[in-house]
Amino acid sequence: MRAMVLHAVGPVEGNPLREETRERPTPGGRQVLVRIDHCGVCRTDLHIVEGELPPVLPSVTPGHEIVGRVAAVGSAVKRFRDGDRVGIPWLHRTCGHCEYCTTGRENLCAEKQFTGYTVDGGYTEYALGEEEYVLPLPDRDAVGLAPFLCAGIIGYRALKLVLPQPGGRIGFFGFGASAHLTLQVAVKLGYQAVAYSRTPDHLRLARQLGAVETVLTSDPSWESRAASLDSAIDFAPAGETVPSALRELKKGGTLAIPAIHMSPIPALEYDRLLFGERRLLSVEANTREDAQEFLALAVRHRLQSTTVSRPLREANEALQDLKAGRVTGAVVLDCA
Ligand SMILES: [Zn+2]
Ligand SMILES: [Zn+2]
Repeated sequence: MRAMVLHAVGPVEGNPLREETRERPTPGGRQVLVRIDHCGVCRTDLHIVEGELPPVLPSVTPGHEIVGRVAAVGSAVKRFRDGDRVGIPWLHRTCGHCEYCTTGRENLCAEKQFTGYTVDGGYTEYALGEEEYVLPLPDRDAVGLAPFLCAGIIGYRALKLVLPQPGGRIGFFGFGASAHLTLQVAVKLGYQAVAYSRTPDHLRLARQLGAVETVLTSDPSWESRAASLDSAIDFAPAGETVPSALRELKKGGTLAIPAIHMSPIPALEYDRLLFGERRLLSVEANTREDAQEFLALAVRHRLQSTTVSRPLREANEALQDLKAGRVTGAVVLDCA
């Protein structure tokens, strides 16, 4: 099978992923082999490829927004059969017995494994998942489903953690793949969504998806606005956006950061940015419960992904586009 493999981390402009032929894996025990149709490209992949997340394997195939069909199952698998439409997400496996796993917080498990980071992922034609962590998906277009697998699920967890009173105003900073799905959930649940971005195209998409207000942050005058948000989610991995997002937050508001890596956050002025019971909260991965809840909501409310599809061999170029902010919505690799 063809795979785009990372042997040595480096800037994506240097095309660090190499196209290789690898042996198709064989599922054992409770493993599920998935023939991949599409795999989404997530910002976390950029952190893995460029080394902000330290390498844990001598080489790895990135990708954790895998959508495909079951091609074979291990002898102990009961939930899936050949041909089922499934997804393999970021949360590959947890230990199942630590203080976090046994209290509904498996996202904090210290021994959890990640698809496309600590085990091979989806920038290829076939990948292995664990039966209990593979997600059954509706039988619809694989391209549109791929961004649900991480961008959607993690954004939903962040949203759950910041939900204000009914009808409250929620701000979305860093309007990429995750924000464009999470904003739709917020709107469907009856909240007012406000989108912030430096890119007019991103704000145009936000308005199409139901944002009541959009703020162009390349215009410095926006920083003098009065605080109007009940809560906010900052999807940008840039620490300098945190004070700006906090400044938009009213008293009692929460700012969530669903980023796995962030550049340094500048000093925060306590009186102005945190006093008034404002909360700043990181979001780490997700639980399987988050994934099930999000996928049910996504189906019920017919969430729409805005995607750009590229062939598998263009994985380096896809990451370059993501890094340069040249993507509106999500980039998805065609692996079939
Ligand atoms: Zn655990
Ligand atoms: Zn991701």
